Amino acid sequence: LNGEVISIGHELLMGEIVDTNSSFFAQRLAETGVTVRWFSSVGDDLSHICEAIERALSRSDVIVTSGGLGPTSDDLTREAVARVLHEEMRVDAGLLAWLEGVFRQRGIAMPSTNIKQATLIPSATSVPNPTGTAPGWWVTSRGRHIILTPGPPREITRMWEETIGPRLAQITGTGVVYTRTLKTYGMTEGGIDEVLADLFGKENPYLGIYARPDGIHLRIIAKAPTRPEAARLAEPVEREIAARLGTAIWGTDAETPASRVIALLSAQGRTLAMADSATGGNTAALLAATEGHGKVFKGALVTGPESGSLGAVLAAASAAARVVQALDGEHQALALADAAREGLGADVGLSVTRTPDGGVYFGAVSDKGSHSGGETRRWPRDIAMNRAAVMALIGLAGAVSRGEV
Ligand code: ATP
Repeated sequence: LNGEVISIGHELLMGEIVDTNSSFFAQRLAETGVTVRWFSSVGDDLSHICEAIERALSRSDVIVTSGGLGPTSDDLTREAVARVLHEEMRVDAGLLAWLEGVFRQRGIAMPSTNIKQATLIPSATSVPNPTGTAPGWWVTSRGRHIILTPGPPREITRMWEETIGPRLAQITGTGVVYTRTLKTYGMTEGGIDEVLADLFGKENPYLGIYARPDGIHLRIIAKAPTRPEAARLAEPVEREIAARLGTAIWGTDAETPASRVIALLSAQGRTLAMADSATGGNTAALLAATEGHGKVFKGALVTGPESGSLGAVLAAASAAARVVQALDGEHQALALADAAREGLGADVGLSVTRTPDGGVYFGAVSDKGSHSGGETRRWPRDIAMNRAAVMALIGLAGAVSRGEV
């Protein structure tokens, strides 16, 4: 089957955002046996969107659009498809009830403009969007499939994995696509490639390697007529990778460093406090944004990066913190973690700190013991902040799961 991807939005044509949705769809469509032949980008203009859809219908079997499903008058993708197919948009009672429920949950009244997000045309069924207010459309007409998705990449990923991917795989006969992601930290792409060389380059299951801000991810993609069969194909590859990489793997699939920490501590009924003089509260923000953090995360003490300033703040709470300035990076981090734990009355203390030479260190402390680590390489500020947060959270998760902290 021929595929075509249309990204819609004025911001794209102004060069304000980069069109990552098209590359996402291109990769996923290829995995499901659809060959993408054309990409196009078009602004929020009804006649231009209609033109792009007409053209796509003349040459492509599967057309995926992203963007323009919002509630405002410049969100026009639904209108364009309805116009091209000469169909009328009607409010769908089920979709409207769902949308009202989303707003009720958020505790805000639903503006009347949002009603158009609950519409369908006769040849469309809705594609659930579990993380947003704009459901997608799956239109089947003239022997073509037109799949409408919203703009935000996070929403698209879930919609693809849960609905679009499996349904397309059924249509193309590639069966079910099963993916499993193993997330590693502390190894380079080259290092992993060396250890797993013989597992790459196979078609089914396919093994992909991707560098991400939280480490190197390995994605196993298996295709089979049914999901259990596909999972069975992927399983030995996962076992082999786990055996070879061992503790370098910190999580799987949708897990994040913060969600690992919260899940592990929550299962043990323990609490966590933080001292942060390296990431400006970034590490705490990641924890606070994680579901279930309420019972675990007691809070964070955040100061600027100058060595010692956090020690001064914590001196009131802990004798250990008083000597903090005299210590090397890792011991400083441990003293700060201990002081945070004591100061905020938590079971586990975590810290991230920077030394004057640019080194970033983390420390994790509890009654059970302690664990620390660090890196001395200098990075640009924004990258350093993210790396430090990831290092501290993954370091803590590892120590907790090994029973060291
Ligand atoms: P919403 O309901 O959130 O308004 P929408 O369907 O109307 O969604 P847009 O308003 O077009 O989508 O885009 C929302 C945001 O999604 C953009 O501001 C941008 O951050 C992101 N986005 C949109 N299109 C793309 C794209 N092609 N690639 C990457 N990001 C995109």
